[in-house]
Amino acid sequence: MSRVIGVLTSGGDAPGMNAAIRAVTRSALSRGYEVYGIRDGYKGLIDGDFVKLDRTSVSDILARGGTFLGSARVPEFKDEEVQNIAIKQMQTVGMDSLVVIGGDGTYRGAYSLIKKGICVVGMPGTIDNDCPGTEYTIGFHTALNTIVEAVDKLRDTSASHHRCSVVEVMGNHCGDLALYSAICCGAEVAIIPEDDFREEEALAKILHLDRVKKGRHAIIIATEKLIDVYALADKITKMSTFTGRATVLGHIQRGGVPVPEDRVLATRLGDKAVELLAENVSGHCVGIVNDKIVSEDIIEAIDKNKMYKSDLLKVFERIA
Ligand code: ATP
Repeated sequence: MSRVIGVLTSGGDAPGMNAAIRAVTRSALSRGYEVYGIRDGYKGLIDGDFVKLDRTSVSDILARGGTFLGSARVPEFKDEEVQNIAIKQMQTVGMDSLVVIGGDGTYRGAYSLIKKGICVVGMPGTIDNDCPGTEYTIGFHTALNTIVEAVDKLRDTSASHHRCSVVEVMGNHCGDLALYSAICCGAEVAIIPEDDFREEEALAKILHLDRVKKGRHAIIIATEKLIDVYALADKITKMSTFTGRATVLGHIQRGGVPVPEDRVLATRLGDKAVELLAENVSGHCVGIVNDKIVSEDIIEAIDKNKMYKSDLLKVFERIA
């Protein structure tokens, strides 16, 4: 069966999204399908902002961060009338299926189209690693790398000035960026949504370290939206011999050249997404579990919790 596939990136951008678009495009072209890039996520689907992709349209993007198609948050896509407009736009170019690259919100958008009979496959693209149906999302490893580089630099200066760095990282409702970076950087404390350890406990641990170990510096890494890192740094300054300093890494975590793990993952997942469409499988999201590329029903995946590695937190707590 011949297919006309649309590909879009939606939600927060993530390094490796370009590699994912490239893989979807080339895998589809190699099967003789037509491919359209859709600009700015669901916005482009509503506006009919499509660009025909050939092999060379996706040349020289593998190593670039961001997404050359653009991404957007489009709250009005929850409206059924708006979804119907998007479907009409697809019909104008004969587009019969979609690959959507984004987070769980993007998957919900996909599900609303699946319910209307559109063939859709979801790919996990977000630095937050909070997507269901996969152990790792496209962009997570690059963001982790960026955080580790930044915290290593903070450590150099903290150690010279007897400071305690309190670093806020992204992750939304997922603590993986904080926990993995805490392990990589030898942090003393990780504050993550999956654990009850919060500001008071963090402060108590730093005061204890200050009294007992008299270390030259300390590092706390916290997932965004959980604590006020500036307030905690102030308390540390007032209550210990450390000078507390807060750093919010912010959007720098979203950018940068994708690391090899993200390029390989994006390529494997993109090829799998097209394979599913070729097999007439719709409504699935693709992922990686135990280094195997897998897929499962999008809505069943959304209903499950994100895979959380509680053993990793225990390891961190023993080593920190
Ligand atoms: P990130 O994890 O980076 O935030 P995300 O895909 O979860 O990525 P969202 O902003 O939650 O980002 O969702 C992206 C887009 O998906 C929304 O702007 C909207 O267009 C669409 N979307 C989200 N939820 C729904 C829904 N319930 N129904 C239809 N469309 C939705």
